[in-house]
Amino acid sequence: MKEFIKMCEECNPGEVEFLQAVAEVAESVKPVLDKHPEYRTAKVLERMVEPERTILFRIPWVNDRGEVQINRGYRIEMNSAIGPYKGGFRFHPSVNLSILKFLGFEQVYKNALTTLPMGGGKGGSNFDPKGKSDNEVMRFCHSFMSEIFRHLGPNTDVPAGDIGVGAREIGYLFGMYKKLRNEFTGVLTGKGLEWGGSLIRPEATGYGTIYFASEMLATKDEALEGKTCLISGSGNVAQYAAEKVLELGGKVLTLSDSSGYIYDESGISREKLDYVMYLKNVERGRIKEYAEKYPEAVYTAIDPALGYNPLWNHKADCAFPCATQNEINAKDAANLVANGVNVVSEGANMPTVPEGVNIFLENKILYAPGKASNAGGVSVSGLEMTQNSLRLSWTREEVDDYLKRIMKSIHSACIGAADEYGTPGNYVNGANIAGFVKVAKAMMAQGIV
Ligand code: NDP
Repeated sequence: MKEFIKMCEECNPGEVEFLQAVAEVAESVKPVLDKHPEYRTAKVLERMVEPERTILFRIPWVNDRGEVQINRGYRIEMNSAIGPYKGGFRFHPSVNLSILKFLGFEQVYKNALTTLPMGGGKGGSNFDPKGKSDNEVMRFCHSFMSEIFRHLGPNTDVPAGDIGVGAREIGYLFGMYKKLRNEFTGVLTGKGLEWGGSLIRPEATGYGTIYFASEMLATKDEALEGKTCLISGSGNVAQYAAEKVLELGGKVLTLSDSSGYIYDESGISREKLDYVMYLKNVERGRIKEYAEKYPEAVYTAIDPALGYNPLWNHKADCAFPCATQNEINAKDAANLVANGVNVVSEGANMPTVPEGVNIFLENKILYAPGKASNAGGVSVSGLEMTQNSLRLSWTREEVDDYLKRIMKSIHSACIGAADEYGTPGNYVNGANIAGFVKVAKAMMAQGIV
């Protein structure tokens, strides 16, 4: 394993996030490789860490002042052993090859866990939609799609949204795809309901994260009702995680954005959450404005010099990180445990650093890694693809029912794999092993390709 990690470091210099994601999976699947030497001989893991294809391209566009802007576009087609590449686009200034490769790598195992036939991919750009007009976002999205469209297709590669890519961006991207291909196909998921989208897709990642937490709690004969919850982020995933916590009788104390967080001791009620949704999705405002509207809440600006995030330093029962990668460091993890948090279900991708994960595991709290607990989004994307192929729309209840069943099945798969390999209750090993084995079997069957 040491040699494998060294090889990865040499082949992917400086790709910190990607190497972090690979190291975690490699550690979990070592016992599987020991039990199945044929996977070692066929270099299954070595092949999995090399994207099947990496596309890098220029995105020129013109801003409202008539100035030419240039961004960089990416698509990582990581693994298609069990289905077409599937995974979101992220538009954020921090986007680089390492971040997209880590996201694509995680996506492969996540998609395998969903029980649906989807391979893994991820893409995006260092474009920052914040502060841009709708027209600027449209011009950028059209330019982005005018290059990437040739690599996409309903049976080839089906992207979706992620950070910075919501309903508005998916609309502009789809419009240009349709024009260039002269066909109406389900090539992007997260579409509007009027033009091929699925009910529950916007809610799916957040709801799924909370369904997964409920499954974990049920193993201890507990439920979310009456539990206090810390949520980070205030975007798509955070909003619907908060909605589901409220529906299940829990209390949401916090929400955040990249500038700071609000703590509302009286709880974020349905009415207050509606305001957050309006503030974030329509006005595209900042979470700070919540504390201006509701003076009972306290706003704290993020101070990186502090070395920890005070959002994670409040007494609570559950924590749902729903913002971004590595947002919980070792100090944050220790603070969460010290404050009595005994359920962490990740809505974001890889929000906890490896030292933080170890703290959760050592303290035996119910901890779900994002590739298991946030798989609800891609699952309903898979259901959107199915509805597009059938040219049918299922009801809200039907899709939500599917989502619940899928989250339950992911939970059982994690428990089963963790038990089989001698680490009961370890959802990290469970998710990595269950996802790996499914993809490895398909790769073995397909030969060296
Ligand atoms: P959104 O863009 O809707 O929201 C992201 C939220 O996180 C915003 O509140 C944003 O604040 C905050 N945020 C982003 N970057 C940082 C940062 N560096 N530090 C602190 N806060 C930050 O994205 P989503 O809700 O869709 O995605 C959130 C997470 O969930 C990501 O990790 C994504 O990969 C993951 N995920 C999303 C899925 C989906 O279906 N959308 C599916 C599975 C996982 P600000 O507005 O200030 O940038």
